[in-house]
Amino acid sequence: MIQRSQDIKYLQGVGPARADLLNKELGICTVGDLLTYYPYKYVDKTHIYKIREINASMPYVQVMGQILSADVVGEGRGKRLVARLVDDTGAIELVWFQGFKYALKNYDFNVPYVVFGKPTVYGGRLNIAHPEIEKVDPSRPFDGESRNRYVPSYNTSEKMKRSGLNSGAMAKLTSKLLELFDEPFPETLNRYLIEHYHLISYNEAIRNIHFPQSAELLRKAQVRLKFEELFYVQLNILRYARDRMRKYRGIVFPKIGDAFNGFYHNHLPFELTGAQKRVLKEIRKDMGSGRQMNRLLQGDVGSGKTLVALMSALIAIDNHCQACIMAPTEILAEQHLQTLRQFLGDMPIRVELLTGSVKGKKRETILRDLKNGSIHILVGTHAVIEDNVVFMRLGLAVIDEQHRFGVAQRAKLWDKSGPTPIPIPVMEGSGHHQSFTSSSNYSPPSQGGAQGVGLFPHVLVMTATPIPRTLAMTLYGDLDVSVIDELPPGRKPIYTVHMYDSYRDNIYRKVRMEMEQGRQVYIVYPLIQESEKMDLKNLEDGYVQVCRHFPDYKVGKVHGKMKPAEKDAEMQRFANGETQILVATTVIEVGVNVPNASVMVIENAERFGLSQLHQLRGRVGRGADQSYCILVTNYEISSETRKRIQIMVDSTDGFEIAEADLRLRGPGDLEGTQQSGMAFDLKIANLGSDGQILTLAREAATTILDGDPDERNPENDILWRRLQELRRTNINWGAIS
Ligand code: ADP
Ligand code: MG
Repeated sequence: MIQRSQDIKYLQGVGPARADLLNKELGICTVGDLLTYYPYKYVDKTHIYKIREINASMPYVQVMGQILSADVVGEGRGKRLVARLVDDTGAIELVWFQGFKYALKNYDFNVPYVVFGKPTVYGGRLNIAHPEIEKVDPSRPFDGESRNRYVPSYNTSEKMKRSGLNSGAMAKLTSKLLELFDEPFPETLNRYLIEHYHLISYNEAIRNIHFPQSAELLRKAQVRLKFEELFYVQLNILRYARDRMRKYRGIVFPKIGDAFNGFYHNHLPFELTGAQKRVLKEIRKDMGSGRQMNRLLQGDVGSGKTLVALMSALIAIDNHCQACIMAPTEILAEQHLQTLRQFLGDMPIRVELLTGSVKGKKRETILRDLKNGSIHILVGTHAVIEDNVVFMRLGLAVIDEQHRFGVAQRAKLWDKSGPTPIPIPVMEGSGHHQSFTSSSNYSPPSQGGAQGVGLFPHVLVMTATPIPRTLAMTLYGDLDVSVIDELPPGRKPIYTVHMYDSYRDNIYRKVRMEMEQGRQVYIVYPLIQESEKMDLKNLEDGYVQVCRHFPDYKVGKVHGKMKPAEKDAEMQRFANGETQILVATTVIEVGVNVPNASVMVIENAERFGLSQLHQLRGRVGRGADQSYCILVTNYEISSETRKRIQIMVDSTDGFEIAEADLRLRGPGDLEGTQQSGMAFDLKIANLGSDGQILTLAREAATTILDGDPDERNPENDILWRRLQELRRTNINWGAIS
């Protein structure tokens, strides 16, 4: 019997040259690879339509009829052969632009044929160009090579096609291969899953996915294989998360004390939104549970995540622990520092900043006070997780805006450099005990409370890029998810318009009007790696143009090629209101908060992804006043681009936009997923459209893990074995361990 691991080149009909092509063009090396190279569509040849039923929106049709006439018409390049095919309900034209002779010689009048092709309308009449035609016995129209079945289409490259390895050839190879497997394929899921989710067997699925015997079986084969694929992805992630949970117990925060309550009653400047309250409850529950919290907090730009982070930190402080908040850039870290200090007012809670540019004496003091516990909250960049930064007792680590981190990356981070596990020094009975509370009113319990050794700080990852649920389950599948789906009251939706760059005067008029009201303006240019030089020129030209147009205002400029200190200084000038216009690349994408800015102009908007546009737009509309976003493109843009821009004009809901982005572009193109390297080499499931199956697959994986936590149930052997196999052959999966 043939093995799945057998080299493809020994398969009959392949040989070294074709094997080389399959290998290089499609990554197919073994027989098993070919088996899982699934068709991307099927052509339905199971039905014969009446001509009257046909319309041009149908992808392919089969009709049966007789040819009544055939004439060459037209001149020059318009010259074509037109035949008239009729059945008892109507007539349709068959058209050839070449190969007239062959057609005229091979097809006869008044003989029944089955004709197959794509119907279109030309000059008001339905026709099929270059149809496939087969002679039939009208009493048995479905007898024949290619009739009465679903014909699979396989993607192949241009290079393959030139060597004759087209879709048809792939179908033939696969068909031969399936015949070689004369015994049923062994099962890859256990009985429980197959019965509970009403799945067909693997054997039936793999055969029908290539050559469906019916529409029903095709559908069932698709469901079975998608489910299986997603099930193992989920099993892998959830198993990893559980493993981590077992190893890393969390510090228990049993109480809410003066820090939290004092803030809540005396310092909170506004009512929390319902969503903020709900999320805080979820976080509190995690932190009181005894297991390490690993939670993803998703909330649209401006939804108030910082406050949630702060209040979570206050719970940690109430339980005699410290907290840290990590931001991706120095300017964001500084902003967090200011925001937190402002919120806390005169409360005796010490918040400090640690970034790469905090040096010398200042750094020493901070490191010392962190170790002796007199700093309660540390805000910073990645500098926070360097080895020489030692907390007295870190209880909560908040990671802000790290939406570009997939599971695999986080796994590495976890293993190597924190934020967990950061060693937590024991506090009880140590000489430093007192100093932790020396600057505050929050005294530690006489005993008990949080235990230091072997416990790990809770982790809250915050992201402002709404991730569609299906993607979140895969990318962040090991985290629990909280969502802030409500903006603070009184926000006016940002008014978004699409304008052509030929109307620049109108764009600048709007900009001027807002500035006359004392407002500020961002003008953003794309910056994409490959053509950085040219983009920078765009930005420079734009800057010159803007300066010339607004001689009476101050214009700033930031881009990624600037030194961080220069960049920060320039941003700071804008934040302070010293400059009114900031010409920038996407470096301003994440997080900066300038509530006085009310216009966001995005040049070459067609070159940005939807999520990125949404993120940029979120830089305005942070105050109570009406804000505007102007998406500028040139006149000639593709219809797909037009659709994307229209979504931005129509919606300000980040989730809606992210879902649309996922549908339009597919997960591979979504921001951040390219680097995430996780589960996007899916062979059959589609995260854009298979949300329901994914939900079931996740539920199934949870059930299996719940019912058999020690992996001892022999009924599940098949699942663990298969998972090991997949982890061996999929590099990305192996990265999670
Ligand atoms: P995010 O980080 O989620 O984008 P921020 O935390 O920066 O959002 O909050 C945006 C603004 O909304 C801040 O100025 C913040 O003070 C304010 N804010 C947060 N929560 C509320 C609330 N419940 N009511 C009113 N304003 C709020
Ligand atoms: Mg924020």
